[in-house]
Amino acid sequence: MIEILNPGEVSRARRTGALVAEILRAMRDRAEVGTNLLDIDRWTREMIADAGAESCYVDYAPPFGRGPFGHYICTSVNDAVLHGLPHDYALADGDLLSLDLAVLKDGIAADSAISFVVGKARSGADTAMIAATREALAAGIAAARPGARIGDLSHAIGTVLEKAGYEVNTEFGGHGIGSTMHQDPHVSNIGKPGRGYKLRPGLLLALEPWVMADTAKLVTDADGWTLRSATGSRTAHSEHTIAITDDGAEILTLPN
Ligand code: MG
Repeated sequence: MIEILNPGEVSRARRTGALVAEILRAMRDRAEVGTNLLDIDRWTREMIADAGAESCYVDYAPPFGRGPFGHYICTSVNDAVLHGLPHDYALADGDLLSLDLAVLKDGIAADSAISFVVGKARSGADTAMIAATREALAAGIAAARPGARIGDLSHAIGTVLEKAGYEVNTEFGGHGIGSTMHQDPHVSNIGKPGRGYKLRPGLLLALEPWVMADTAKLVTDADGWTLRSATGSRTAHSEHTIAITDDGAEILTLPN
C-alpha cells in the first residue's frame, strides 16, 4: 500500500521527525568511549516515553528477524550495518557506530539513521565511507519532487555510492513511511531513471543509503537480527525521512 498524507498528517510527521532527530542527536552526544549499547537503548526508551511517543521497534517482528526486536534503537558497530541488536558492549575508541531509530507519534512514524566514529577515527576510510552515504542521501533527496520516479532517486543514490567505489546491496533499501514504519514503495539504493512509482505531494519516503567497505554481501549474526558485512569490513548508513511537497522535498528528520 502507498499512503499519501494530507497536510495535517504531514504537520504531525514534522513533529515526529523532529523528535527522531532530537533523540539521535542526544545519543550521538552521549555515545563516548566506554558507553554501553544497552545504555543508549535505555536513554532512547526514556526519551520516547517522555515525548509521549511509541517505539516502532520493540514489537517489530518481520520475516527477516528473529521474533520481536525487543529494543528501542538499532546499534550497529563496525562490521554490523543494519538492525544491530543492542547488547552488553562498551564502545571502544575508534568504533564506527550506526544508530537507526523509528518512532511513532500521534499516529505518524519517522525514521532516520546516522553513522559516526566514537573517539578518534582509526582510518580516513571510515570517515570517507560515512561521507559517501551522506552524499548519496543528499543526491537522492535532491532528485525527489512531484513527477519524479522512484528510479530517479535510486539512480541518484547508487551513482554516488558506486563512484565512491562501493558495491551496492539491493536486499535492503529505503521505503515509504506514514502511519506505519515500512510501506511501499521500496526505494532501492541502485536503479534506473524514469522507472517506478511517480512521486506525489504528501508521499513520505525514508531514504537510506548504506554500504560495506569491500563487499555487498551480508551475513546474519547469531542474535538473529544484526546484519554484518560478509568480509568483516566496516560499514556506514545514513537515513532521513522526507515529505514530497508541491515543489520538491522537505527533510523531516533534521536536528533543529
Ligand atoms: Mg528505514
